[in-house]
Amino acid sequence: MKRSDRVTAVVIVCAAAMLLVVWVLTHQVKGSAAYIRVDGTIVATVDLTSSNPSTLHIHGFLGDVEVVADGKGAVRVVKATCPDQICVHTRAAYSPGDQIICVPNHLVITIERGSQSIDALTQ
Ligand SMILES: [Zn+2]
Repeated sequence: MKRSDRVTAVVIVCAAAMLLVVWVLTHQVKGSAAYIRVDGTIVATVDLTSSNPSTLHIHGFLGDVEVVADGKGAVRVVKATCPDQICVHTRAAYSPGDQIICVPNHLVITIERGSQSIDALTQ
């Protein structure tokens, strides 16, 4: 192995380690609210800072979707009327940017940091 190969390997390992650290740090942040949308319209908001567990029954396009907030800052779908059950098998969402999507029910759950403020505006 040449010296340049070792340098390249060290650079790649360092870059991968930095990406891993950034990914871990950004995913440790918990969101403060979950916005549940059906057909793009917010039908429910869940306060993820609350320590009280709650269950919501959302009317999706195909029928009821049961969404549970565990009281520890995470939200997940536990029951749905969709045929594939992908949303039910999706892991709990808790970090800003996490989403649970049920396409057959036109439902999207998005975790956000706080209020519905604008992140950026371009002209
Ligand atoms: Zn589904």
